[in-house]
Amino acid sequence: MNKKKVNLLQVFIEIIKLSPIKFILEYLFTILDAVFMGLITIQLGNVFTGAVDFFNHNVNWKDVMNSLIVLLIYNILGQVSSGISSYYGEFYSGYSVQFLMKELNRKISKLPSICFEDPEMMNLIKSARVGARSVRSVLNVVMDVICLYIPYYIIIGTYLYSLKPILCFSLLFVFFPVLIGQIIKRKYYGQLKEIQAPLRRKKAIYKSYITDRGYLKETRSLRAENYFFRLFKGTAINYHDFNFIFHRRANRIDAVAQMFTLLGYGGVISLSIAGIVKGDIRVASFSAIYASLSNLFELMEELLDWRMNEVVEVYGDVRKYIEFLNFDIKDIPAVRLEKDIETVELKDISFSYPTKDDVLKDINLTLRKGESLAIIGENGSGKTTLSRLILGLYSPKDGEIFYNGISNYKISSAQIYDNSSAVFQNFNHYKLSIGDNVKVSDFTKKNSLDDLVKCLNWAGIDKDNPKFFNGLDTIMSREFGGIELSGGEWQRIAIARGVYKEHGIIVLDEPTAAIDPIQENEIFMKFRELSNNAISIIITHRLAAIKYCTKIIVLNKGRIVAEGTHEELLDSSAEYRRLWKAQARLYAN
Ligand code: ADP
Repeated sequence: MNKKKVNLLQVFIEIIKLSPIKFILEYLFTILDAVFMGLITIQLGNVFTGAVDFFNHNVNWKDVMNSLIVLLIYNILGQVSSGISSYYGEFYSGYSVQFLMKELNRKISKLPSICFEDPEMMNLIKSARVGARSVRSVLNVVMDVICLYIPYYIIIGTYLYSLKPILCFSLLFVFFPVLIGQIIKRKYYGQLKEIQAPLRRKKAIYKSYITDRGYLKETRSLRAENYFFRLFKGTAINYHDFNFIFHRRANRIDAVAQMFTLLGYGGVISLSIAGIVKGDIRVASFSAIYASLSNLFELMEELLDWRMNEVVEVYGDVRKYIEFLNFDIKDIPAVRLEKDIETVELKDISFSYPTKDDVLKDINLTLRKGESLAIIGENGSGKTTLSRLILGLYSPKDGEIFYNGISNYKISSAQIYDNSSAVFQNFNHYKLSIGDNVKVSDFTKKNSLDDLVKCLNWAGIDKDNPKFFNGLDTIMSREFGGIELSGGEWQRIAIARGVYKEHGIIVLDEPTAAIDPIQENEIFMKFRELSNNAISIIITHRLAAIKYCTKIIVLNKGRIVAEGTHEELLDSSAEYRRLWKAQARLYAN
């Protein structure tokens, strides 16, 4: 689908375009199905009339048999049409969901990272996923209304009209109340979806704390299972309470609508009886009318109570799907950024998360190739956020970041990713081989084996260690026949992965927490060597390690409160002195 705004009709057209021939065949046979259904109903009336006439000796048995044979043929042809239509329908069901999910995932992959910090956007994506699965059902119901229900109503309506015109019009009384009821219900279900989306996400999160492998161990050791279970139960009850309230309202609407339907039904029967009494309708025709009506009502119940209900329930999610596809992602005019980043300048940068304001304020900072910057400060002072802005993961709220003098608004984030590398606090533990765990940061690299081994050595991992029983192909997970690593080993692999990728900027965000201080110093010393060819940024709490960085900034509540080298800051910043002295005491012990 293109970048222009789309509506439901256009999404339908895209689905149809997947295979127009199969689509046409599906609904051509649906129309035939409707025609045969109509003919069967009418023919059933004829068979009844024939049977009555036969007993009255007005026709002979051969005529009755002929009527029955025609009925049988209509039945067979109806079944064949319905079967062929379902066959093509099956194709569409699977294929269209696949296609719509692909569109959805493509859009998700283009979302700026900051969107994933926005709970509303997460709700929208969740509903859009459900919506993508439901678009086909809506299309199917719309097409069935056009190709199955309407033709069938026309055939039966005409037949009833031919018997007695008023019968045809009284059908409207039967039809409209339920239709209006569905329209009201659609509004209710839209509201229900809005309320339930965040509850659904909470439920899933609480459940994962008790059942997911990643959380389970900590939850158990905290003895927090009951606590999370209570949270889960509370949310689930809340979720179902809303379900109950809304369904109760919907049922009331159904009850009123069906009362009218019943009145309409009663009206048609009364009219028919009145017709018989007056002699307008033959007694034999009454059975035909009755057969037509019961078929019609059965089908209408199916359409309004079941099929339309289905549409009403999912329509809210389908709208969310369209809303998500139409979510505006700004196109950035892509100026080329050279691999060699010489400078990064942050000018008057401020930043807020969707749910938290003023995380960074008035940040001005210049970094040059070869410099190593250390960012320090209390927890929550904005260190990680600042590094993510520099890495292009988030855009500033105010101000600009210039890479080699080019504004961040003129280059795509992808270009910054291509030119930078990072080791995050919560880096991923890929259940891949040790080699792939490193190479995943750049699978395109030439001479990759030499580099790979160099980076692993650099980070302190010896590939010849016997525990890597399959060398670089040893899988880093027991689940897949490999080995488990310690927290420190994983951290080294993450560091090797970060260093392996060609970069103009590299960020190490608390990369050594699970490594002891002596080995940590060794890693930092080596890391400084790297800085000759790049801008390197370290975020750490261990100040001993950053003494040799060419620049240190101290963040406090999102502002830079001190900037300089270690010696300069010892001189000029009381905050830095306080932090340094506190840690020097710790190391002395
Ligand atoms: P630091 O790295 O110094 O510990 P962070 O950059 O992680 O600090 O966070 C700075 C502030 O932003 C904190 O107050 C934190 O609570 C808030 N914050 C961090 N991530 C998010 C997020 N995804 N959504 C909302 N607020 C966030």
